[in-house]
Amino acid sequence: MICVPITARTKKEALHTIERSCHFADFIELRMDLINGGRLEEFISAARDNSDSVKIIVTCRKKEEAAPAGKAAAKSTARNTKEKMALLKEAIIQDADFVDVELAEGHARIKELQAFCAKQGSKTKIIISYHNLKETPALTKLKQIFHQCAKFKPAIVKIVTTAKIVEDNLTTLNLIPYAKEHSQKIISLCMGDKGSISRVVAPLMGGYLSFAVLEKKGQSAPGQFTVSEMKQINELLKNSQIVPEAKELSAQRSQHQNYILLGNPVGQSLSPLMHNAALKKMGIEGTYSAFCVQDLRGAMQGIRAMNIRGASVTIPYKVAVIEYLDDVDDDALKIGAVNTVINGNGRLTGYNTDWLGLILTLQEVMSIKNKTFVIIGAGGTARAASYGIIKKGGLPVIVNRTPEKGQTLASEFNCAFYSLSAIDKIKADCLINTTPIGMYPKDKSPVKAQVLSNYKYVMDVIYNPLKTRLLKDAEGQGCRIISGLDMFVNQGAHQLRLWTGKEPPRALMKKILSERLTQIE
Ligand code: NAP
Repeated sequence: MICVPITARTKKEALHTIERSCHFADFIELRMDLINGGRLEEFISAARDNSDSVKIIVTCRKKEEAAPAGKAAAKSTARNTKEKMALLKEAIIQDADFVDVELAEGHARIKELQAFCAKQGSKTKIIISYHNLKETPALTKLKQIFHQCAKFKPAIVKIVTTAKIVEDNLTTLNLIPYAKEHSQKIISLCMGDKGSISRVVAPLMGGYLSFAVLEKKGQSAPGQFTVSEMKQINELLKNSQIVPEAKELSAQRSQHQNYILLGNPVGQSLSPLMHNAALKKMGIEGTYSAFCVQDLRGAMQGIRAMNIRGASVTIPYKVAVIEYLDDVDDDALKIGAVNTVINGNGRLTGYNTDWLGLILTLQEVMSIKNKTFVIIGAGGTARAASYGIIKKGGLPVIVNRTPEKGQTLASEFNCAFYSLSAIDKIKADCLINTTPIGMYPKDKSPVKAQVLSNYKYVMDVIYNPLKTRLLKDAEGQGCRIISGLDMFVNQGAHQLRLWTGKEPPRALMKKILSERLTQIE
C-alpha cells in the first residue's frame, strides 16, 4: 500500500495536494509539521470529501526526527510539545485513522494519547515511530527499539533509518519478518539514496506500507519515489511475474523463495536474468536479486535473518565468504572457494558449482581422462578448473602472468607450471582461458593467434562477448571452440538444483542469455 505524505507551503497548496493524492494513494499522511497555514479539521474533511477509502495518518514530527524536506514543503513549523499533543488529540477527536507519535516523546505522553483515544471511543489507532536521520544502527539495537515500541501494543510500529551503504537495507528490512514473528504490524524502511530499494522491497516482504510522493519536489524524506514511479515498478514486477498479485501475496508469502547474488560490482551480472527466468519456468514462487555488497558479514547475517533460501557469491567474495559459513562441502573446501550458499533453516552451507559447470561443458565436446589441459590464470576459476580436471582423470598445466601465484597453484595440485611468456613452448589437447582478458568491451586475447595451433580444443570462460578474440583466433587456427556461456549456464543450473532439488530448464536459460548477449554485441 502506498502512502503520500502531504507537505505544503500554504493551505491552498495543501488542499490541492490532498485532492490529487486521494485519487492515487491508499493512505495520506498529513505532515502537520511541514504544512503552513490551514487547520487539521479542514484537511481531514477535504480528504473525506475526495475519497471514502483513503486512510488518514496525522503526524507532527519532532524536529530531531524530521528529515530535510523537499522544495514544496514548508520549513518545519516547529510546534512545542503542548501544541503537538493538542493537535494529535484533535486528530483523535476528528477520527483520523492513525496518529503517529515518536517513541522519543516518552512513556507518559504515549500513554496519555492512548488513554485519550479510549476515553473518546475514537476509532483512531496509534503508530509509534522511530527515525534515525544519521545511520542504520546494528540489528540488535533495532530489535531493542522495536520491543520498546511494541510494548505499548500500538496498531503499527514504524522504524525508519538512514542507509549509508546498501547493506543497511538488509538490516532494516530484517525487522519485517521479525515483527511478523511477534504478530506486530510494522513499517520499516531506509531513507536516503542508498535506501531507495527498501521502499520497493518492504511492502513485498509484508511491511504495512511504503511512502511515495506525487512529485519529486514534494519529498518529505530523501530517497522517496514518486507514486507513478512506484506504480511502474510494481507493474513491472507483476508483469514479469516475479511478484504475484497483491491479493495473493500474503497467502503465498510463506512459500516465496528468495535468492540473492552477493558481489561487488554486480550491475552487469546476467545471473538475475537467468535465475528469474528459470525459477518462473520451474513453477517456483521466488525472486533472485543482485546485491552490491560492501560489508560481507552484514550481508551474511541478512541471509539468515531474512530467511533467504540461497545465494550466489561472486568476485571478490568467493574465498572471504567461507569464514561466515557453518559448513563447506568437500569439493568447495578442496578448491578453496565458494560460489553457492544454501540456507537450511539458518544453517549456511557453501558449495562450488564453477568446477562442475566447467567440467560438464568440456564433457559435452570431449573426454577429459588422460588429456592435458593448459590453464591460463591462477585465480579462483583456474583452481576450480584444475580441481575438476584432476577429479575426472585429466592433467592440468598452469600458465600465469605472476609466477609465484602460478607456482603455488601448480604445487598445490601437483602439476606443471609455465610463465605466460613461455606459452609457445607448450602443446596440449585443450587450452582454457580463466583470466578476464577479452571481456567486453575489450577485444583482446591472452595469447598470440599462432600459439593456438598447438591445441585441438580452446575454451574461454568469458561469456561476454559470446565469441571472444581468443575464440575467433582459435577458429581461424582450425580449433574446436568452447564458449564460457555453457559453463555459466551449467554452474547456474547446478546452483538451482542445490537450492530447489528440482531439475532446471538449461535450454531456456541458455536461450535467454544468448538473446541478451547477442543484443549487447
Ligand atoms: P581471479 O581470481 O581474479 O583470477 C584472475 C586471473 O587472471 C589471475 O590469475 C590473474 O593473474 C589473471 N589475469 C588478470 N588480468 C590479467 C592480465 N591482464 N594479463 C594476464 N593475466 C591476467 O578471477 P576469477 O574468479 O578466476 O575469474 C576469472 C574470469 O572468469 C572472470 O572474467 C570471470 O567472469 C570468469 N568466470 C566465468 C565463469 C563462467 O561461468 N563462465 C565462472 C567463473 C568465472 P595474476 O595471478 O598474475 O594476477
